[in-house]
Amino acid sequence: MATKCIKVYGIVQGVGFRPTVARHAASLNIKGSVCNYGPYVEIIAEGEEGSVSDFIDLIRVKPPKRAVILKMDVRDIADGAYDSFEIIPSGKTRGEIFVSPDIAICDECLSELFNKDDRRYLHPFINCTCCGPRLTILESLPYDRERTSMKEFEMCPECASEYHSPSTRRYDAQPVCCNNCGPEVFILDDKQNRRSREAITYTRKVIAEGGIAAVKGIGGFHLACDATNDAAVMRLRELKSRPVKPFAVMMRDRAEVLRNCYIEPYQEEILTGHQKPIILLTRREDSVLSSGIAPGNPKVGVMLPYAPVQSLLFDYDDGINMPRSLVMTSGNLSGLPICRNDEDARREIASYCDVILTHNRKIRTRADDSVMDFYNGRPYMIRRSRGYAPLPFMVSDKFEGQVTAYGGELKNTFCIASGNLMYPSAYIGDLTDLKGKEALKETIGRMETLLETVPKVAVCDMHPSYNSSMLARERGIPVIEVQHHYAHILSCMAENDYGKEVIGIALDGTGYGTDGSIWGGEILRCDLNGFERLAHIRPFLHTGGDIASKEGYRIAISMLIDIYKDAAEEVTDSLGLIRQGSYKMFKAMHDGRINTAVSTSCGRLFDSVSAILGIRYQSTFEGEAATALQYAAMKYTGDKDIKVPDLTDGDVIATDRIVKAMAEGRMAGEDINKLAYMFHLYLASGVAEMACLKSGDIRVIALSGGCYQNTLLVSLTEKILTDKGYRVLLHSMVPPNDGGIALGQAYYGMNKINKEAR
Ligand code: ZN
Ligand code: ZN
Ligand code: FE
Repeated sequence: MATKCIKVYGIVQGVGFRPTVARHAASLNIKGSVCNYGPYVEIIAEGEEGSVSDFIDLIRVKPPKRAVILKMDVRDIADGAYDSFEIIPSGKTRGEIFVSPDIAICDECLSELFNKDDRRYLHPFINCTCCGPRLTILESLPYDRERTSMKEFEMCPECASEYHSPSTRRYDAQPVCCNNCGPEVFILDDKQNRRSREAITYTRKVIAEGGIAAVKGIGGFHLACDATNDAAVMRLRELKSRPVKPFAVMMRDRAEVLRNCYIEPYQEEILTGHQKPIILLTRREDSVLSSGIAPGNPKVGVMLPYAPVQSLLFDYDDGINMPRSLVMTSGNLSGLPICRNDEDARREIASYCDVILTHNRKIRTRADDSVMDFYNGRPYMIRRSRGYAPLPFMVSDKFEGQVTAYGGELKNTFCIASGNLMYPSAYIGDLTDLKGKEALKETIGRMETLLETVPKVAVCDMHPSYNSSMLARERGIPVIEVQHHYAHILSCMAENDYGKEVIGIALDGTGYGTDGSIWGGEILRCDLNGFERLAHIRPFLHTGGDIASKEGYRIAISMLIDIYKDAAEEVTDSLGLIRQGSYKMFKAMHDGRINTAVSTSCGRLFDSVSAILGIRYQSTFEGEAATALQYAAMKYTGDKDIKVPDLTDGDVIATDRIVKAMAEGRMAGEDINKLAYMFHLYLASGVAEMACLKSGDIRVIALSGGCYQNTLLVSLTEKILTDKGYRVLLHSMVPPNDGGIALGQAYYGMNKINKEAR
């Protein structure tokens, strides 16, 4: 006989966890109890040794559909001679709080939605105990209707009876409502005052006829149009001044996804799961999507409908023939936080669309769609937001107290830490504009209320003029600054719950270095107390200031001047790099250090090589040139047994040798895809060899930074390191880009305040 106490942490509340556990117990003749403690469920299990371990496996493998198990603690306890298995009423919570992310419409609700005989037939706000909005409608905790956006809608008697009856699918479902008592959709600022059915039909008509509609969903507005209609897609591109940046596509159903994309079983599981992120899939050659969706990109971002109103855009009883794939792009001004209310929509996106379909259920916290790529059969998060935030990460360090980490400047998210739980926020966006800064401030306030935290310190990036850092300083509590790339590595350590010494390889866009220069290609020795810069890529001149991040050819010219000296003019000429002005002008700027900073940015190295290879001379959105270089490399199918030259030069990775090899290869007429592949291989080898050389007795290496969104670069680096016997820490659910650094900042801040308290 064995008796064990099992604590299960994660999203275990409001998802039918206890009944499921009780069923598993009955099936294995386990006695004991299950009790909800808010942040965790405690299970006492007594039975035959084998049965108890089967029981634990069963909980792990078959939890309730919407549950997310973060951690299970199992320990032996004295036997209690239990004679049954009981569900014990909820115990007291202990200050650790799990706010559920929003959950996509479930299959049961979906079938009710389209069942003519159901009370909620075509109801745009249908939900139940295991699906519907959570974070986005929550004002404060505990999660009860009067503290959500649903407080304005009084339940009708039928809804109330479902809500109060444990035997229904809507027992205790806070957002429960129906066609008689729920919120309503309507056309914004409509002279004809179209509401409900009329509003949906009109919106569908606009889209079917090739127009553009803004649609308010769960976490904000989307702009939607027919994804198979070239003219509609091009018009949306023109209106948004977004020439090539990929648009996400919402597809009616799984069949439509299979018709347009290649999909692996592990991707399908995420596609149809309850979080419904945008997942990046390889497009089929015979896809019916407009080529304007993601020009030059082999992949397309795809998701299934997750809000009932989105399902109604595809299917309704009005006889309109709708496309099965719709562009669903965030309704916002480029880079700014997504619009979440009618005023935002009027001000920012009304001129981008022909109709705005809105509704009167308030969105409290914005939640953009999450974006997920895959690496080695595992999720590889690009943007972690709706469906995932604010699910916490748990570290094993014994931390007390609370901090709020303000994150970076682009792709901002923040992170609240309380004890050993770290809650990264939903996506805020770029803070270069006042609206972004305000959104960050407001959302931090809301999340601190929800999580009942009062931070002792604010943690931020050390960049002197990041808006996020300024907000942290305005807070009036002590501020801890963390170097940008150290924070990237810390985020990877936190995600992997690894608090010991590591070698960090941070390949990134730009970040403020401790010496005031621009860093971004760094080998760091890190632990929770601090870091040491061991090596970096060859510093180059970052000419042209901010514009250089858009115009990679400028940096290419500057690099070639350093490499080829007097012969540089001929090289830049034959590579066609002078896109405007003259060689003389660039040379004068370079020599005079005009509008120039010293940089080790790996992102700019990518841009520059992309220009040298003639793939992209400039970018219309962040990462365009770099991703185009990656796609070229992925097309290379030739011999990959390529010899890599030595690229270590003291504590400098000789990236200038890579640049030179690229320029010479192109001038010699080598295959561009092969050169693009060689670039990736050389860079991965250069950083990996250097990391090993500098590793001393550290055997663990963490990879982070925006350039590691590039999964080819990840796989090449990882292979070299694991072949040499190193353990490699990678990201999965936390983005390697700046959307992840708040977690690293929070990890550092918590360690620091706890160390000082001891
Ligand atoms: Zn449901
Ligand atoms: Zn009702
Ligand atoms: Fe970064």
